[in-house]
Amino acid sequence: MFSPPPNRRPRIPCLAVLVLAAGHAALAQSQPQDPPPAVVACKGQVTQPAGSQAPGDQYVFFGANPKPGDKEGDNPAMNLVKLMDFSVSTLIPGSHIIPTDPSKPEWAKVIAPGGTPVNTGILYHNGGQNTSHRDLVTFRITNPAVTSFSVWVLDSTLKNNSNANLALRVNGGDPLAATATVQTATSNEFTQFTVTGASISDVFSVAVLNDAKPIFRTLAGLTFAVIPEPATAGKRLPNIQQDGWNDLNKNGRKDPYEDPAQPLTTRVDHLLKQMTLPEKLGQLNQLVRFADKAKLDAALFPLMRRGEVSSYIWTAPNPALRNQFQRIAVQESRLGIPILFGMDIIHGARTLFPIALGMACSFDPQLLERAQSVAAREARAEGLEWVFAPMCDLARDPRWGRVAETCGEDPYLSALCNAAQVRGFQGPNPAAPDRVAACLKHFAGYSAATGGRDKNDTEISEWTLRNAHLPPFQASVKAGALTIMSAFNAIDGTPSTANRHLLTGILRDEWKFGGFVVSDWDAVAQMIQWGYAKDKADAARLALNAGNDMDMKSEAFVPNLAAEIQAGRVAMATVDEAVRRVLRVKFLVGLFERPYVDELAYRPGQVIPEDAALARECVAKSTVLLKNTGILPLAREIKKVALIGPVGDDHSEMLGCWPGRCSWAETTLAGALTAALPKDATLTVVKGCDISTTPRTKTLQDGSVVPDEDVAAVSADVQIDAAVRAAQAAEVVIMAVGEPKGWTGEGGSRLFLSLGGKQQVLFDAVAATGKPIVTIVFSGRPLSLPAVWSKSAAVLYAWQPGSQAGPGLADLLVGAASPSGRLSMSVLREVGQAPNYYNQLRTGLPGFSFRDHLTSGEPQYPFGYGLTYTTFEYSPLRITPAAAGQPAAASVTLTNTGKRAGDEVVQLYIGQLVCHDGARPKQELRGFKRVTLQPGGKAEVSFPLTGEVLGYVDRKGQPQVDAGTYDITIAPSAHKGTPLKFEFAR
Ligand code: BGC
Repeated sequence: MFSPPPNRRPRIPCLAVLVLAAGHAALAQSQPQDPPPAVVACKGQVTQPAGSQAPGDQYVFFGANPKPGDKEGDNPAMNLVKLMDFSVSTLIPGSHIIPTDPSKPEWAKVIAPGGTPVNTGILYHNGGQNTSHRDLVTFRITNPAVTSFSVWVLDSTLKNNSNANLALRVNGGDPLAATATVQTATSNEFTQFTVTGASISDVFSVAVLNDAKPIFRTLAGLTFAVIPEPATAGKRLPNIQQDGWNDLNKNGRKDPYEDPAQPLTTRVDHLLKQMTLPEKLGQLNQLVRFADKAKLDAALFPLMRRGEVSSYIWTAPNPALRNQFQRIAVQESRLGIPILFGMDIIHGARTLFPIALGMACSFDPQLLERAQSVAAREARAEGLEWVFAPMCDLARDPRWGRVAETCGEDPYLSALCNAAQVRGFQGPNPAAPDRVAACLKHFAGYSAATGGRDKNDTEISEWTLRNAHLPPFQASVKAGALTIMSAFNAIDGTPSTANRHLLTGILRDEWKFGGFVVSDWDAVAQMIQWGYAKDKADAARLALNAGNDMDMKSEAFVPNLAAEIQAGRVAMATVDEAVRRVLRVKFLVGLFERPYVDELAYRPGQVIPEDAALARECVAKSTVLLKNTGILPLAREIKKVALIGPVGDDHSEMLGCWPGRCSWAETTLAGALTAALPKDATLTVVKGCDISTTPRTKTLQDGSVVPDEDVAAVSADVQIDAAVRAAQAAEVVIMAVGEPKGWTGEGGSRLFLSLGGKQQVLFDAVAATGKPIVTIVFSGRPLSLPAVWSKSAAVLYAWQPGSQAGPGLADLLVGAASPSGRLSMSVLREVGQAPNYYNQLRTGLPGFSFRDHLTSGEPQYPFGYGLTYTTFEYSPLRITPAAAGQPAAASVTLTNTGKRAGDEVVQLYIGQLVCHDGARPKQELRGFKRVTLQPGGKAEVSFPLTGEVLGYVDRKGQPQVDAGTYDITIAPSAHKGTPLKFEFAR
């Protein structure tokens, strides 16, 4: 069964070196005080006071993931280094301290075991040794008042690819054998050991365990910090828990806002009445911190205590730390309003499903609902109550990397799939312990970025906005979405963050949306760059007055809005209303009753078998079979198979652009295929070349793209000869190719819609062998690969299929499942066609063609297209007129004419011939049905032709339907089938 990191550490590419942090010796030697000194001394000396730190500050920390040549400021955590000195008490053999820049005396002074202080940012360890069961760092707590503390170890290189585990040993023994109790939690970044019951005689060591393999890289960074329980250390926190309610304001009485039996409005209003202005503005403030590093930022604690942190973007799964933060907000702040923790859980948390663009290819909204209910359960279990999904933007231009996160180019399909995701996340009651609040994004029109260039401006008419971009949002609001994110783009010169027409006119006045609007990342402040606001105060006022309730990341509201109110530029009523909306959502997700997550129940990395099975089913339903000359499914008689291409045996490329809490798929396609092929078949796996020739990058949580140093450098050694030899020796070649996952998603715009690196050369060389090729394309967008389409015997378009990619695709290859996905986005012949979605408006001169390419303007494979392992026949279309109170209906008889059972997605397209309000597309999807038929099986498939099915939205947002003539088609995809004329009379 799949189980993602960090429990799984299959390889060890390197071993950490160590840096040992030491604290204030003076404090460390002192006797217990109240409150005790917060910085815990480790064995070693501190040679100077801790700079600007004051006693009671929270941390001792060495820069995260230091690299040689790192300069101060390169690394957000590094700035803490200068505040104190460190001493190294234990070095693993072969480690030595490398002096860095002597002109930087403010850098940490590390006192080596030999006693010589050197300024340094890093220690190196010479590679080549087996360090099994070796202590990296040894320390002792010298302050008897500190019996509970956390040890944080960051080792970026052990993190993903190592079979070593970090352990905290007590008194040289097994952690469990000691008097002190140690609990271990791992996150993307840190291993955290929580120690309780420690005594000053205990000696602790951070050790590497279970490392059977020699170390083969020489450089790594290990960050080490010892932190007592945060701000609350040594304090007795009030017990707020009462029988069925929480005494959040700690007055011993059940006030209306604390009483779950009171109506929501009563609770909200009662709380609001008691709030000061800073507390109100605090509820509109969302901070962004790398979850673990936030722990080290003592400046946050007073903010939380004052009630000025409404929400966090919580990047790493760390329920213990989340609860510690929540404790400050709930138990130490005046009114005890809990913090709402949110994060981008886009296509799964631990169980990764195919990206949304792939999931929409299932044409099965219920499947998306089921998948997101798994994501909701996994997210809530780690302490998130809010996810920034689903994305309701339309995918109209494949150059735009964020098409991966959308449900495709069609508003109707997208509306159904997005509403389903909302239901999956929120369920019937978002307060349930396995549900979260959804956040529709990005409101609105973000995907229309000029030229597909992410975060560019957009020009969208009201007609197109209403009929194309808004329906998925409106349907999702109707499905009960609790929050919406305003977008980065500007329409008609107005950034969405300050677009009152969108945020108040449409969203609140027309749609009666009752939740809150959060800005996108730093988007309030970005209005300054847009040239729309002069400073943060201006931006804050514009955003709030437009209807943008919460500020993500810019921290513009809290410091500026009081003065804006004072000056009469923002009404107190506007603030109150925004706060009300935020509080309402906090009540609705049950935060006031259950502010804490059950950290002991949390199992990092655990995936339950049913969820993995669902993810596997999703792979089959979202993969689109573009071509099949009959080679698929592979006949059992085939005994020699070659798997060629960079994704074939890769554990992470298929995970997609938002891999949630999973960075490693347990089973690769190679592994799954080995298991799925007959026992006497052989599978030869050749990578052939890297997925790209530019260094691999990774996208950090803050959206920045940096080189991915955890991944081996791009090899110059392209193994095309080896691939050709493997192909020659095989009966069938499977090529696993695509684009790097880091080229999709946010910031992932592309100039070419080609394979990455040398893959096309590889493909052509393999194709030249004449062996039949089954190509599997892994990608976050439809690529334009004419040679692949023409030279392959079969093509499976797999998108980024998630953590069950291997088993799911192996099922399809051997026929254990049939591909039944249909394109949610058109596949273009060439990038120059972009944008080219099927439902463009009619034009005066249809039949456009390009001069330099003798094709029509038509895409290679249109929206809705996809094959399966059987064939279907459509009877001629019939239209039954309206009669006896029944609407008119369009129907066909569908027959499975092949030899296998299969699913067909029967699609209804309408086209209004004359519309005086505005020209409409030639075809618009207005219905579909997924039908499963046995060989020879038949089904009647019919769709009503009601006003709702045929209608549109006028520029005022009113639904309209005109009497007149419509083209009706029932077909297996757009641009197929012969339309029948239908007269609609009102
Ligand atoms: C993205 C959003 C995302 C947010 C928080 C932004 O840069 O555009 O989609 O939800 O960051 O991570």
